[in-house]
Amino acid sequence: CGIVGYVGSQQASTRPLDVVMEGLRRLEYRGYDSAGVALVGPGTGLETAKKAGKLANLVEELDANPLDPATAAIGHTRWATHGGPTDTNAHPHVAGRLAVIHNGIVENFAALKAELEAQGVTFTSETDTEVAAQLIARAYEQTGDLTTAMATVVRTLHGTFTLLAVHADDPGTVVGARHDSPLVVGLGEGENFLGSDVSAFIAHTREALELGQDQIVTITPGAVAVTNFDGTPAEARRYTVDWDAEA
Ligand code: GLU
Repeated sequence: CGIVGYVGSQQASTRPLDVVMEGLRRLEYRGYDSAGVALVGPGTGLETAKKAGKLANLVEELDANPLDPATAAIGHTRWATHGGPTDTNAHPHVAGRLAVIHNGIVENFAALKAELEAQGVTFTSETDTEVAAQLIARAYEQTGDLTTAMATVVRTLHGTFTLLAVHADDPGTVVGARHDSPLVVGLGEGENFLGSDVSAFIAHTREALELGQDQIVTITPGAVAVTNFDGTPAEARRYTVDWDAEA
Protein backbone atom coordinates (compact mmCIF):
# COMPACT_ATOMS: atom_id res chain seq x y z
CA CYS A 1 0.00 0.00 0.00
CA GLY A 2 3.04 2.25 0.21
CA ILE A 3 6.08 2.50 -2.01
CA VAL A 4 9.41 4.30 -1.62
CA GLY A 5 12.46 4.33 -3.86
CA TYR A 6 15.82 6.04 -3.48
CA VAL A 7 19.08 6.34 -5.39
CA GLY A 8 22.08 8.34 -4.17
CA SER A 9 25.73 8.99 -4.82
CA GLN A 10 28.10 6.31 -6.13
CA GLN A 11 29.48 5.96 -2.59
CA ALA A 12 27.68 3.18 -0.73
CA SER A 13 26.19 4.43 2.56
CA THR A 14 23.41 3.84 5.06
CA ARG A 15 21.39 6.72 3.53
CA PRO A 16 19.38 4.59 1.05
CA LEU A 17 18.04 2.40 3.86
CA ASP A 18 17.50 5.39 6.19
CA VAL A 19 15.55 7.31 3.55
CA VAL A 20 13.38 4.33 2.64
CA MET A 21 12.58 3.42 6.26
CA GLU A 22 11.70 7.06 7.00
CA GLY A 23 9.47 7.10 3.91
CA LEU A 24 7.70 3.89 4.97
CA ARG A 25 7.05 5.41 8.40
CA ARG A 26 5.41 8.42 6.75
CA LEU A 27 3.30 6.13 4.54
CA GLU A 28 2.05 4.02 7.47
CA TYR A 29 -1.18 6.03 7.55
CA ARG A 30 -2.23 4.29 4.31
CA GLY A 31 -2.56 0.99 6.20
CA TYR A 32 -0.55 -2.22 5.65
CA ASP A 33 0.01 -5.76 6.93
CA SER A 34 3.72 -6.34 6.07
CA ALA A 35 6.80 -4.37 5.14
CA GLY A 36 10.11 -4.92 3.38
CA VAL A 37 13.15 -3.36 1.74
CA ALA A 38 15.71 -4.24 -0.92
CA LEU A 39 19.15 -2.66 -1.24
CA VAL A 40 21.68 -2.77 -4.07
CA GLY A 41 25.25 -1.55 -3.97
CA PRO A 42 28.49 -2.01 -5.86
CA GLY A 43 30.19 -5.11 -4.50
CA THR A 44 27.38 -6.02 -2.10
CA GLY A 45 24.86 -7.29 -4.65
CA LEU A 46 21.21 -7.47 -3.70
CA GLU A 47 20.06 -7.68 -0.08
CA THR A 48 16.52 -7.81 1.22
CA ALA A 49 14.64 -7.88 4.53
CA LYS A 50 10.88 -8.33 4.95
CA LYS A 51 8.47 -9.10 7.76
CA ALA A 52 4.75 -9.54 8.25
CA GLY A 53 3.20 -7.17 10.76
CA LYS A 54 4.20 -3.70 11.85
CA LEU A 55 7.20 -1.76 10.62
CA ALA A 56 8.65 -2.36 14.10
CA ASN A 57 9.05 -6.05 13.14
CA LEU A 58 11.13 -5.05 10.11
CA VAL A 59 13.21 -2.68 12.26
CA GLU A 60 13.86 -5.55 14.71
CA GLU A 61 14.89 -7.81 11.81
CA LEU A 62 17.27 -5.13 10.46
CA ASP A 63 18.79 -4.67 13.91
CA ALA A 64 19.35 -8.43 14.26
CA ASN A 65 20.66 -8.87 10.70
CA PRO A 66 22.04 -5.53 9.46
CA LEU A 67 22.28 -4.93 5.71
CA ASP A 68 25.39 -3.58 3.98
CA PRO A 69 25.78 0.06 2.91
CA ALA A 70 24.17 0.59 -0.51
CA THR A 71 23.61 3.08 -3.32
CA ALA A 72 19.92 2.43 -4.04
CA ALA A 73 16.94 1.09 -2.10
CA ILE A 74 13.25 0.30 -2.48
CA GLY A 75 10.75 -0.12 0.34
CA HIS A 76 7.22 -1.46 0.51
CA THR A 77 4.24 -1.70 2.81
CA ARG A 78 1.83 -4.41 1.69
CA TRP A 79 -1.91 -4.72 1.83
CA ALA A 80 -2.29 -8.37 0.83
CA THR A 81 -4.60 -9.23 -2.07
CA HIS A 82 -3.07 -12.52 -3.31
CA GLY A 83 -1.52 -14.74 -0.63
CA GLY A 84 -1.88 -14.18 3.11
CA PRO A 85 0.13 -11.65 5.12
CA THR A 86 3.23 -13.79 5.78
CA ASP A 87 6.97 -13.07 5.75
CA THR A 88 7.32 -14.99 2.46
CA ASN A 89 4.49 -13.15 0.72
CA ALA A 90 5.81 -9.76 1.90
CA HIS A 91 7.60 -7.70 -0.73
CA PRO A 92 10.26 -7.32 -2.17
CA HIS A 93 10.06 -10.38 -4.41
CA VAL A 94 13.38 -11.57 -5.74
CA ALA A 95 14.22 -13.24 -9.05
CA GLY A 96 17.93 -13.86 -9.46
CA ARG A 97 19.71 -10.55 -8.83
CA LEU A 98 16.53 -8.47 -9.25
CA ALA A 99 14.00 -7.30 -6.64
CA VAL A 100 10.51 -5.93 -7.26
CA ILE A 101 7.87 -4.24 -5.11
CA HIS A 102 4.30 -3.75 -6.20
CA ASN A 103 1.13 -2.03 -5.12
CA GLY A 104 -2.06 -3.12 -6.87
CA ILE A 105 -3.12 -6.32 -8.60
CA VAL A 106 -1.78 -8.22 -11.62
CA GLU A 107 -5.11 -9.61 -12.87
CA ASN A 108 -3.61 -12.01 -15.41
CA PHE A 109 -0.97 -13.43 -13.05
CA ALA A 110 -2.36 -17.00 -13.08
CA ALA A 111 -1.91 -17.44 -16.84
CA LEU A 112 1.56 -15.84 -16.75
CA LYS A 113 2.55 -17.99 -13.77
CA ALA A 114 1.42 -21.18 -15.52
CA GLU A 115 3.52 -20.26 -18.58
CA LEU A 116 6.60 -19.65 -16.42
CA GLU A 117 6.08 -22.85 -14.43
CA ALA A 118 5.86 -24.78 -17.71
CA GLN A 119 9.31 -23.34 -18.49
CA GLY A 120 10.64 -24.64 -15.17
CA VAL A 121 10.45 -21.49 -13.03
CA THR A 122 9.68 -22.19 -9.38
CA PHE A 123 7.82 -19.68 -7.22
CA THR A 124 8.38 -19.10 -3.52
CA SER A 125 5.32 -16.96 -2.72
CA GLU A 126 1.58 -17.02 -3.41
CA THR A 127 1.54 -13.44 -4.70
CA ASP A 128 0.60 -12.06 -8.09
CA THR A 129 3.69 -9.85 -7.77
CA GLU A 130 6.30 -12.61 -8.01
CA VAL A 131 5.23 -13.19 -11.63
CA ALA A 132 6.26 -9.62 -12.45
CA ALA A 133 9.61 -10.14 -10.70
CA GLN A 134 10.32 -13.30 -12.72
CA LEU A 135 9.29 -11.67 -16.00
CA ILE A 136 11.36 -8.50 -15.47
CA ALA A 137 14.40 -10.57 -14.46
CA ARG A 138 14.10 -12.61 -17.66
CA ALA A 139 13.60 -9.50 -19.80
CA TYR A 140 16.70 -7.98 -18.17
CA GLU A 141 18.73 -11.03 -19.16
CA GLN A 142 17.70 -10.43 -22.78
CA THR A 143 18.31 -6.67 -22.89
CA GLY A 144 20.74 -5.82 -20.07
CA ASP A 145 18.68 -2.68 -19.47
CA LEU A 146 16.29 -2.33 -16.53
CA THR A 147 14.11 0.36 -18.14
CA THR A 148 13.64 -1.68 -21.32
CA ALA A 149 12.96 -4.79 -19.24
CA MET A 150 10.28 -2.96 -17.23
CA ALA A 151 8.68 -1.57 -20.41
CA THR A 152 8.59 -4.98 -22.08
CA VAL A 153 6.88 -6.58 -19.10
CA VAL A 154 4.33 -3.89 -18.14
CA ARG A 155 2.90 -4.10 -21.65
CA THR A 156 1.90 -7.70 -20.88
CA LEU A 157 0.34 -7.06 -17.44
CA HIS A 158 -3.35 -6.39 -16.85
CA GLY A 159 -4.76 -4.84 -13.70
CA THR A 160 -3.54 -1.93 -11.60
CA PHE A 161 0.03 -1.46 -10.55
CA THR A 162 2.83 0.66 -9.28
CA LEU A 163 6.01 -1.39 -9.74
CA LEU A 164 9.55 -0.58 -8.66
CA ALA A 165 12.60 -2.66 -9.56
CA VAL A 166 16.30 -2.71 -8.68
CA HIS A 167 18.99 -4.98 -10.13
CA ALA A 168 22.33 -5.82 -8.51
CA ASP A 169 24.10 -5.40 -11.87
CA ASP A 170 22.94 -1.77 -12.05
CA PRO A 171 23.17 -0.49 -8.45
CA GLY A 172 22.84 3.18 -9.44
CA THR A 173 19.33 2.89 -10.86
CA VAL A 174 15.75 2.44 -9.69
CA VAL A 175 13.02 1.97 -12.30
CA GLY A 176 9.31 2.53 -11.63
CA ALA A 177 6.11 2.11 -13.63
CA ARG A 178 2.52 3.07 -12.98
CA HIS A 179 -0.82 1.99 -14.40
CA ASP A 180 -3.96 3.16 -12.58
CA SER A 181 -1.94 3.41 -9.38
CA PRO A 182 0.02 6.36 -7.94
CA LEU A 183 3.75 7.15 -8.24
CA VAL A 184 5.51 10.50 -7.83
CA VAL A 185 9.16 11.50 -8.23
CA GLY A 186 11.14 13.61 -5.76
CA LEU A 187 14.06 15.58 -7.17
CA GLY A 188 17.18 15.90 -5.01
CA GLU A 189 20.77 17.05 -5.49
CA GLY A 190 22.87 14.03 -6.44
CA GLU A 191 19.99 11.83 -5.33
CA ASN A 192 16.42 11.15 -6.42
CA PHE A 193 13.30 9.67 -4.86
CA LEU A 194 10.13 7.78 -5.73
CA GLY A 195 6.99 7.49 -3.62
CA SER A 196 3.33 6.55 -3.60
CA ASP A 197 2.80 10.15 -2.56
CA VAL A 198 5.02 13.08 -1.63
CA SER A 199 4.97 12.24 2.08
CA ALA A 200 7.43 9.44 1.20
CA PHE A 201 10.20 11.99 0.52
CA ILE A 202 8.92 15.32 1.88
CA ALA A 203 11.59 15.25 4.62
CA HIS A 204 14.25 15.51 1.87
CA THR A 205 12.87 17.52 -1.04
CA ARG A 206 9.84 19.52 -2.11
CA GLU A 207 10.71 19.47 -5.80
CA ALA A 208 8.57 16.84 -7.49
CA LEU A 209 7.48 15.39 -10.82
CA GLU A 210 3.94 14.23 -11.37
CA LEU A 211 3.92 11.20 -13.68
CA GLY A 212 1.11 10.60 -16.14
CA GLN A 213 -0.77 7.33 -16.54
CA ASP A 214 1.16 4.46 -18.12
CA GLN A 215 4.60 5.95 -17.68
CA ILE A 216 7.95 4.51 -16.72
CA VAL A 217 10.50 6.48 -14.72
CA THR A 218 14.20 5.74 -14.36
CA ILE A 219 16.06 7.49 -11.57
CA THR A 220 19.85 7.66 -11.18
CA PRO A 221 21.77 9.95 -8.77
CA GLY A 222 21.97 12.72 -11.38
CA ALA A 223 19.02 12.20 -13.71
CA VAL A 224 15.36 11.34 -14.07
CA ALA A 225 14.04 9.96 -17.38
CA VAL A 226 10.36 9.41 -18.13
CA THR A 227 8.99 7.31 -20.99
CA ASN A 228 5.70 5.84 -22.10
CA PHE A 229 5.17 2.06 -22.02
CA ASP A 230 6.18 1.95 -25.71
CA GLY A 231 9.55 3.46 -24.84
CA THR A 232 8.96 6.91 -26.37
CA PRO A 233 10.04 9.91 -24.25
CA ALA A 234 7.26 11.44 -22.11
CA GLU A 235 6.73 14.75 -20.35
CA ALA A 236 6.08 14.87 -16.61
CA ARG A 237 4.84 17.99 -14.82
CA ARG A 238 7.34 19.54 -12.40
CA TYR A 239 6.02 21.28 -9.31
CA THR A 240 7.01 22.40 -5.84
CA VAL A 241 5.14 20.70 -3.02
CA ASP A 242 3.31 23.37 -1.08
CA TRP A 243 2.68 21.60 2.15
CA ASP A 244 3.46 22.98 5.58
CA ALA A 245 2.62 19.88 7.57
CA GLU A 246 5.21 17.18 8.26
CA ALA A 247 8.24 19.32 7.36
N1 GLU B 1 -1.20 -7.76 -4.98
C1 GLU B 1 0.02 -7.66 -4.24
C2 GLU B 1 0.07 -8.64 -3.11
O1 GLU B 1 -0.91 -9.15 -2.67
C3 GLU B 1 0.29 -6.22 -3.75
C4 GLU B 1 -0.67 -5.74 -2.69
C5 GLU B 1 -0.44 -4.27 -2.30
O2 GLU B 1 -0.93 -3.37 -3.01
O3 GLU B 1 0.23 -4.02 -1.27
O4 GLU B 1 1.12 -8.94 -2.63
